[in-house]
Amino acid sequence: MFFVKVDIERCTGCGECVNICPVQVFQLGPDGKTDPYQAGECVGCMSCVEVCPEKCIEVLEI
Ligand code: SF4
Ligand code: SF4
Repeated sequence: MFFVKVDIERCTGCGECVNICPVQVFQLGPDGKTDPYQAGECVGCMSCVEVCPEKCIEVLEI
């Protein structure tokens, strides 16, 4: 299992993580920032960590 952690203060809502995640972990929330609402689906590919321009996503194996 993986834990998906976002530093919301730094998220600009660019949507790159939403677009790249192969299992649709993220959606943009009403505040215009990302929401890892399906974090339980994460397969640990690290694409979101690599693509985020703000480097504000961490994925940890738990
Ligand atoms: S590590 Fe991969 S599967 Fe997990 S949230 Fe990021 S893009 Fe999605
Ligand atoms: S890629 Fe980074 S900055 Fe862009 S919406 Fe996702 S978490 Fe926020």
